Amino acid sequence: MPRSTQSLDDFARAKLDDLEARGQRRSLTDTARGPAGVAHRDGRDVISFCCNDYLNLSQHPAVKQAAAQALETYGASSGASRLVTGNNPLFGELEAKLARLKGAEAALVFGTGYLANTGIIPSLMRDGDLILADELSHACLVSGARLSGARVQMFRHNDMDDLAARLDELRNTARHALIVTDGVFSMDGDLAPLPQMTALARAHDAWLMTDDAHGLGVVGEGRGSSYAFGPGKMDVPLQMGTLSKAVGGFGGYLCASQPVIDLLKSRARTLVYSTGLPPASIAAASAALDIIESDKALIEKPVANAAQFCREAGLPAPQSPIVPVLIGEENAALAASAMLLDEGYLVTAIRPPTVPAGTARLRITFMAEHAPADISRLAVIVRDRIIRRPAA
Ligand SMILES: *Cc1c(COP(=O)(O)O)cnc(C)c1O
Repeated sequence: MPRSTQSLDDFARAKLDDLEARGQRRSLTDTARGPAGVAHRDGRDVISFCCNDYLNLSQHPAVKQAAAQALETYGASSGASRLVTGNNPLFGELEAKLARLKGAEAALVFGTGYLANTGIIPSLMRDGDLILADELSHACLVSGARLSGARVQMFRHNDMDDLAARLDELRNTARHALIVTDGVFSMDGDLAPLPQMTALARAHDAWLMTDDAHGLGVVGEGRGSSYAFGPGKMDVPLQMGTLSKAVGGFGGYLCASQPVIDLLKSRARTLVYSTGLPPASIAAASAALDIIESDKALIEKPVANAAQFCREAGLPAPQSPIVPVLIGEENAALAASAMLLDEGYLVTAIRPPTVPAGTARLRITFMAEHAPADISRLAVIVRDRIIRRPAA
């Protein structure tokens, strides 16, 4: 074996041993998902309580049919970047629906949410600018911020005094300032305090960007976190999100003003230098947005199901379909997850570095089609065997 290959494999093995020792090694498990939250894993069917397909739209007949028809009409790939020949005619309709739903002038669809964030932020910010990010922001917001070359500071989670102090201290040192936050926090399920954030952004001439991956379709009457604070829309000029959670498809997007969207079409490297979404994904998302816009009863269900669970498990009322059950240590979280799997419920353990050290947890997510009986049974198990677990 050449020496370089040997050193590469030695490096990988040493890293893996270290991750193993810290309970942070990860692996992939084959999982075939079906309707109503069923997941087929290791030879048996279990009910998944960890999907982000909150409205079960990935399995909706109208969504699947739209995807199948686009596949038949246009083929399996868009064939090139959107700027070359990959701008399938279905994009315009999807972007118009997104902009309408989110109350924005325009929208732009990217390959994924991760690609959206790593394209948007470096297109707007650079050396000499300031980015203030909530410390629990999703990893791809942080990646985008670091790629931009701007100065990046994290403020304490949802702590508006801390954000205000940093703006007071640093705003004048930077040309432009951007505040970034999850709209609905992906691992905690709480909302960013957008009324206070929009006021701070306005007062300091800072641009506000929300990552609404977990907001669209489930909070603010389906329109996302900007609409979750009473009537009307919060003044959030950059509303980013994904088509891969409640929309049940694949892709990412930004809703913003027309000039911002036009700028990104020229500048966002992850749009310019990456292939456009497959036509089937565009069509699926478009059909799913029609359902989100029209079926008010459906979009209320995931949060209602989370609320039932929290009531019965003795937890505080949830703000979204995401309910964290904090455990602490990595291997204890893995053991809790294994215990639930034995009971027929799939809830993966979330460990650092996805969440801060010492806060390994179960992240339980609720879908529209979860049966009330399963929610109740899960609540009792979590309450009696995890939250109030008898001392060993
Ligand atoms: C899932 C997620 C993303 C990434 O979206 P993808 O479309 O899956 O790449 C971005 N931000 C948040 C908060 C997420 O939860």
